[in-house]
Amino acid sequence: MQRPDQTGNLITEFKCKICGEPIRFSLNDPKTYESKTPHKDYFGMQLTTVRVSHEISGERHHNSIVIDQKGLFRGYRDAYVEPITSGDSPGQSSLVVQPGQSLQVTENKFVTLLVMVDRQRFWVKPFLCPEEFRPTELARLVMERVEEAERVYDKMPRTLTFGLADMDIHVWVSQERVVFVAFNNPSVLPALEGLCEGLLEVDKGMSFTNQRAIQMALQVIGLIPDIDSDTIHRLVTDALLFSVTTIPFPDRTNRIVELVSKRFPIASVILRPLLTGKSSIIDLLEDGHVREIRDVFEMVDFINRRGLLG
Ligand SMILES: [Zn+2]
Repeated sequence: MQRPDQTGNLITEFKCKICGEPIRFSLNDPKTYESKTPHKDYFGMQLTTVRVSHEISGERHHNSIVIDQKGLFRGYRDAYVEPITSGDSPGQSSLVVQPGQSLQVTENKFVTLLVMVDRQRFWVKPFLCPEEFRPTELARLVMERVEEAERVYDKMPRTLTFGLADMDIHVWVSQERVVFVAFNNPSVLPALEGLCEGLLEVDKGMSFTNQRAIQMALQVIGLIPDIDSDTIHRLVTDALLFSVTTIPFPDRTNRIVELVSKRFPIASVILRPLLTGKSSIIDLLEDGHVREIRDVFEMVDFINRRGLLG
């Protein structure tokens, strides 16, 4: 959905992921969007993540989407609702669960807790929290310890660890966010490092977090506890995993599938839907290929490195 306006700017139009209303913007007109992040070549396309929002009935709907070099919509990355308030910022004592964000998961085989605090909006995002705990109270206690450490340390360490309610809590801190976890199997620590550091980086300073990617990361860790930090970090930070592609030379599909399958057997199953725009990488992972996540990433990198589609 794209067409030039009177001035020749390419207009992208897509439906708000939250309410379905059409939203229009132009990459040439910075007033029409909040931010853009260009990506390196991906399957022969030049993709950009763009953050766009609109206001409707007392709410602001933020969308993070991926578009191609022609301004064509290629996929949603994430979306969230922000109530439009009078501008009074609440005090530290009023940490609340982010509006519209319900608890996603209460149980994981190896990870017992994963909560993020948005320090600017005073929002708590309980991605994983056992039912017996109140996430806002946990967050409040963790924030007290974080602020105490920030007063004490001249230079804050990368992570903090302390005991709380019978759990060993590991905390990652940035100016905008705090992420804390607890786990019952020490082999998940590298994966959680990748996850939490990724969460601190994602869309710097914004409230975007990709719940779909975080749920997938927890699923991966539940199946492969000793998964490496880089794979999980990529899962929560790489916007291209959410893009649907159409390759520049579709008649090459068969040859590419055949070629890549020799090196990556999984290609014979997943590469065709990926090249023909039927599935994004995250769709394929959700569709039963979680255990093969490392092979999937390696295959995608191989194709892009070799410029097989360029
Ligand atoms: Zn909307």
